[in-house]
Amino acid sequence: MLFEDLGLAQEIARAVSEQGYSAPTPIQAQAIPAVMQGNDIMAAAQTGTGKTAGFTLPLLHLLSSGERASRGRVRALVLTPTRELAAQVFDNVQSYSKYLPLRHSVVFGGVKINPQMVRLRGGADILVATPGRLLDLYNQGAIRFDRLEALVLDEADRMLDMGFIHDIKKVLRVLPAKRQNLLFSATFSPEIRQLAKGLVKNPLEIDI
Ligand code: AMP
Repeated sequence: MLFEDLGLAQEIARAVSEQGYSAPTPIQAQAIPAVMQGNDIMAAAQTGTGKTAGFTLPLLHLLSSGERASRGRVRALVLTPTRELAAQVFDNVQSYSKYLPLRHSVVFGGVKINPQMVRLRGGADILVATPGRLLDLYNQGAIRFDRLEALVLDEADRMLDMGFIHDIKKVLRVLPAKRQNLLFSATFSPEIRQLAKGLVKNPLEIDI
């Protein structure tokens, strides 16, 4: 399979080809079409498999049409367990969307909250966040989820290992029920399957 076969918006295809990728990785070949069609997915994927592009590319494709985010609104939320991963995912988002008129943000703890609040005023088509700081910002009224279209949990098993389950549940309670859900985890432990039950609807299961 080639990237051209996936039917990604040409702005995205161009950014991908500038990265020098010749073909989608196995997880991308499965995840990208499923997400573009609006399906929920549940994917077992380790770091290094190309999972980040596996959710970022089809989300950008979906977000490239439709009304842009404004005034604190977020259209797609990516939750990650650590600030390092958040920063890395955000870098990917920025490079794949360099030819799209979209605006993205990243928020995590351990740094001042005010600049994050100011930046969020303009809205974020994709917001990459760690759970604790996301909740702080939400509780301070800096984020609105009424236009949220998609949620990604990246490295969900690590989030559970790090004790984020209560934060994740709090976040889920304030999101609109109608949304697309993408769950990525290195393994599908019983705890992850339990979390998935309340999260994904008729997901395509991808195990590479
Ligand atoms: P990830 O598993 O998302 O952390 O990605 C691992 C690495 O693979 C990153 O450095 C990506 O830039 C790179 N990568 C992602 N997709 C592809 C692809 N289709 N071809 C070659 N490299 C890729």
